[in-house]
Amino acid sequence: MNTNNRNTSKNEQKKKKNDTDILDSAVKKYAKLDMTKAGEMKKNQKENGESKKKSKSKKENTKSESSKKTSGNDKNNTVRRKKNVSNSKRRQGQKNIQPVLPVRIGFLGGLNEVGKNLTVIEYGEDIIIIDCGLAFPDSTMLGVDLVIPDFTYIEKNKDRIRGIFVTHGHEDHIGGIPYLLDVVNVPLYSTQLTIGLIEAKLKEAKKLSKAKLKVISAGDKIKAGGFTVEAIHMNHSIPDALAFAIKCGAGTIVHTGDFKIDCTPIDGGMADLARLGELGNEGVLCLMSDSTNSERPGYTESERKVGESFENLFRRAGKRRLIVATFASNVHRVQQIINVAESLGRKVALSGRSLENVVAIGQQLGYLNVPKGIIIGIDAIKQYADDELVLITTGSQGEPMSALTRMAMSDHRKVSIGPNDCVIISANPIPGNEKTVGNVINELMKLGAHVVYERMYDVHVSGHACQEEQKIILGLVKPKFFIPVHGEQKHLQKHALTAQLMGIPKSNIVLTSNGNCVSLFEDDYTVTDIPAGNVFVDGYGVGDVGSVVLRDRKLLSEDGIIVVSIVLDSLTGYLVSEPQIYSKGFIFMKESSELFNEMNSRIVRITDSYSDKGRHDINSLRNKVRDDISRFVYDRTKKSPVILPVISEV
Ligand SMILES: [Zn+2]
Ligand SMILES: [Zn+2]
Repeated sequence: MNTNNRNTSKNEQKKKKNDTDILDSAVKKYAKLDMTKAGEMKKNQKENGESKKKSKSKKENTKSESSKKTSGNDKNNTVRRKKNVSNSKRRQGQKNIQPVLPVRIGFLGGLNEVGKNLTVIEYGEDIIIIDCGLAFPDSTMLGVDLVIPDFTYIEKNKDRIRGIFVTHGHEDHIGGIPYLLDVVNVPLYSTQLTIGLIEAKLKEAKKLSKAKLKVISAGDKIKAGGFTVEAIHMNHSIPDALAFAIKCGAGTIVHTGDFKIDCTPIDGGMADLARLGELGNEGVLCLMSDSTNSERPGYTESERKVGESFENLFRRAGKRRLIVATFASNVHRVQQIINVAESLGRKVALSGRSLENVVAIGQQLGYLNVPKGIIIGIDAIKQYADDELVLITTGSQGEPMSALTRMAMSDHRKVSIGPNDCVIISANPIPGNEKTVGNVINELMKLGAHVVYERMYDVHVSGHACQEEQKIILGLVKPKFFIPVHGEQKHLQKHALTAQLMGIPKSNIVLTSNGNCVSLFEDDYTVTDIPAGNVFVDGYGVGDVGSVVLRDRKLLSEDGIIVVSIVLDSLTGYLVSEPQIYSKGFIFMKESSELFNEMNSRIVRITDSYSDKGRHDINSLRNKVRDDISRFVYDRTKKSPVILPVISEV
């Protein structure tokens, strides 16, 4: 047992030194070409003594304990180094090519989260961007509308960016594009539907005219600097989804985008597994694959299954009105609802702006086949009996402003819910939304509606691959390195385990996070840092909301606000009248009048002392009042309301 361990560790050490040498020579060569990289390396050298040290320590994380113990034997290093140099020379001789540069994969979003996907891939002087999504704010981001990736790294390297490639039209992949194009305006490539959805977004942001949108189809190969990017057809919960095979001097990188394998999709055909297999046979350096459902065993059901369920449920609905809530972007689901409605002689009305948009775009581009006269305006529903109608609505996630939520709260101007309604929620709550969805269901039921939701009757199938499908991709693509993407940490780790089960060595699986840049060499990888983070969009402001504003909002929401109004004589600086104190959202205790009286006299004391000294510095008076009152209120109540002194002179 012990001997074995020692042998393995020696071998691993040998491999590591070998790798470090190849890595060193490649890094040196690369650094000459790439000033950013050179800058970064200098920084690393300062911070870590030597850049390869960082690579070593990162690698060690993935090695066994025993290999750690034996690292750092200098004498052996020199010997092996020489040997390995000749080794790598020999290898280059065989291939008769220059030593390859590393390909760098930087993550600005989409790891350890589901949302705001943005990956940059760099080779030599060239960079391409894969997707640029947004995330929706969590409960700590008060008043924030959207979250987009931090574009600092892209801005710094904007002259090197050769193209933006978009896998599909979901918000977590396209939502950040209007903001990205302000930073770097390069050609953007995707399929027709995705481009259609991006166009609508840019039109709304009044940025369409300057965008360079290029429609591509699966099978197309696009040259972008030193890259050739091939589009590969995939299945997902929106039509026209792509995987990309990205070829550069370092090898081929496959990015699946979001995918599932649907053998009987509604339209567009099954994912192009044959092409992925061909690429696998040619040799793939690295695979990045969708991890969303990596905890789920088996296969994801075909979208067609949902159509069958609709057919059953619609038939059973009898005299009831049908209301189906689904994701606006799930064009195939909308198609199936329309098909079943038509076969049963019901008209379809749409509620929700995003749904109307997608249906219009889908129809215009030929992704939706809508028989004439089947869709009626929401205003026209009064003219039809309940059993002549199907309403399709947004709000399957219980979003507060959505059509379904407004119906549930009896706040929808055109639709009121009653006992003759059958509401089908054709979606599963995204983690974090369970409570809001639950609320909506409860409210609908209180109004007497019959509600069908979650796994009942198969009214929803996922758009993401389960374990067996992930295995098929791993087995076909046969990558040397594997980076699980698109998911929370638990999803990424589970996907990594699946890959190990498929025979990919643990040391070749990179679990990484936003703000990391993975440099892949022939046999090794290193990880460095790049700037990444959340940028909050609040109304029209991008990045105006920082942590200070969020803290204020949190305080306001928790402890309220106290406004102190002070009016001074502009000549003498003394109070003209008693200070006025107003509060909103602040506790109202029995003794609060006493508290306010005390505050009052403190303020009088402070302003008087300022005026006595002949000081007329309103700013410092304001700060003094704020600090004093804030401390005083905290001492008395253990609350920290926002204190807002308003000082005016007359
Ligand atoms: Zn998606
Ligand atoms: Zn996604």
